[in-house]
Amino acid sequence: MPWFLWTAASLAVVFVVGWFVVPGLLRSLIKRRLSNYRTEFTVPDASKPERLEGKRRVAVLGGGVAGLTAAITLARRGFEVELFESNAYLGGKLGSWKVPLGPGEEAWVSHGFHAFFANYFNLNRFLDSLGLRREFISIGEYVILGTDGAEVRFGQMETTPVFNLLSLARNGVYRFRDVLKAPARDVFGVFLEYDEKDTFSRYDDVSFADFDRLAKLPPRLKLAFNTFARAFFSDEDKLSLAELIKSFHFYYLGQDGGLVYDYPVHDYEPQFLAPMRAELDRHGAKVHLSTRVESLERTANGFRVNGTPFDRAVLATDVVGARAIMSQATGIDAALKAPFEKLETGQRYAVLRIWIDKDVRTGFPPFVITDRVKVLDAFTTYHRFEHEAQAWTKQHGGAVLELHCYAVPEDLSPEQVRQALLDEFERFFPEVKGYTLKHEAFQLNRNFTAFHLGMYRHRPGVESGVPGLVCAGDWVKLPFPAMLLEAACASGLCAANVLLREVGLREEAVSAVPGRGLMAGVPPPPARKLLVPGAGKTAP
Ligand SMILES: Cc1cc2nc3c(=O)[nH]c(=O)nc-3n(C[C@H](O)[C@H](O)[C@H](O)COP(=O)(O)OP(=O)(O)OC[C@H]3O[C@@H](n4cnc5c(N)ncnc54)[C@H](O)[C@@H]3O)c2cc1C
Repeated sequence: MPWFLWTAASLAVVFVVGWFVVPGLLRSLIKRRLSNYRTEFTVPDASKPERLEGKRRVAVLGGGVAGLTAAITLARRGFEVELFESNAYLGGKLGSWKVPLGPGEEAWVSHGFHAFFANYFNLNRFLDSLGLRREFISIGEYVILGTDGAEVRFGQMETTPVFNLLSLARNGVYRFRDVLKAPARDVFGVFLEYDEKDTFSRYDDVSFADFDRLAKLPPRLKLAFNTFARAFFSDEDKLSLAELIKSFHFYYLGQDGGLVYDYPVHDYEPQFLAPMRAELDRHGAKVHLSTRVESLERTANGFRVNGTPFDRAVLATDVVGARAIMSQATGIDAALKAPFEKLETGQRYAVLRIWIDKDVRTGFPPFVITDRVKVLDAFTTYHRFEHEAQAWTKQHGGAVLELHCYAVPEDLSPEQVRQALLDEFERFFPEVKGYTLKHEAFQLNRNFTAFHLGMYRHRPGVESGVPGLVCAGDWVKLPFPAMLLEAACASGLCAANVLLREVGLREEAVSAVPGRGLMAGVPPPPARKLLVPGAGKTAP
């Protein structure tokens, strides 16, 4: 064979190996190293009984996703469950309620659009057990919109961890030469090294703002990180870098679903909460709505909740409720109450639902992250997917939209927040200029869990230390990475499992993304010391 044919054949082999075989091999190595992107934290023991034979009364304090998960799980197993919820509706931050729009006309509104990710293993299984994921749609595309109209799109990006990081560069989110320069080069590796113990002991006292200053994040990469930071309802100087690393691991580097998620086509009340209420009723659980828990008293045999005796209690309120209930609880040792005193809320968040007579342009998914100027963090076009909103636009035309601010600047009054949301909305969507605001529903709340600097070490776990009192909620420290809705549901399952375990019943399955990142356990380079507390502030 002539030499040039040999050369061409060799080049072809190198090309095929380099282009197809090596990446394929790397992908499967990464998958294996990350436990196939899923670990089974609790595997039910089929030899154990499923249902409780005796009688055990359990009070569930709080009816958000965490409380509902615990209440439904225990009621299904034969426990006598009573759920106390201070709102007039179930669901907590996933809850919804009706607002009047005009004579004879009303609409459901909620705390805001929620995304359901593929790696919400426990929540997805729980919803499946109720048949509640039938009417879900995939978002298909994850878009971040700049004020200049520029878009960063994640939908088509690689999903394999590490490849997904490289893919960000290929899509113009950052340039290799920017991140390969010191000090950025020396600190970026932290995201691949997630390991609960190490990450939190090293970086829980470092803020995201310090990291940004030190790493000199390229603007578009900063924008991408901001979308993770926003999940914490916190300004950058308060947000713990360790929590951000966990979030990045949970949503991006520890799983292969990319950032694409599902969302329901109905309002949350008909889609989730009415069926959950029906499940509680079916299993004989009592639900006390509009009933704030004012007193928790530890007794010789269990607890009194608002004066009613129970054998066990699940504390599943938000952080505001948990701190208040525990500070006034009687019969509980001060040392065991102490961690609850340290629970805090993040910043205020604002949600403005508007019904207007014009529509915004098409070409992006129903939920879009915006590169906020002062307040507008995200935007939802409800009339493009939610059946209830579609019924309104069918009759009136126009659009039903929702404007979000996830960390409201402290210096703004409620009216200033509302106005700023509307102003920024017009800035991102100039095509609606001159629109008429037909109806609006505005909320400004401060009840979201804070994930601030140095809070991790005090965070209560599922087992409170008080015999018979277990905790559930997105604020509870879990022994595996989980966040938001998934953390709420997983903690509800773990709390129920403690009570199932103590009476010898089969526990519920609990799954999680891998507990450690791809590079966890590899000794960090000395330059990583740049990130130790204080170093960021003085860094170049
Ligand atoms: C605007 C917004 C957008 C979000 N988007 C997403 C998203 O896209 N994806 C995602 O995964 N998560 C999202 N989240 C977060 C998610 O909603 C929460 O993490 C989750 O719902 C928390 O559930 P929980 O049961 O722990 O707490 P909560 O939902 O806060 O439930 C606690 C319940 O306890 C009740 N309570 C408090 N005190 C008392 C008392 N003293 N007595 C009786 N009851 C009491 C409260 O009324 C509440 O119903 C979002 C949250 C918000 C606000």
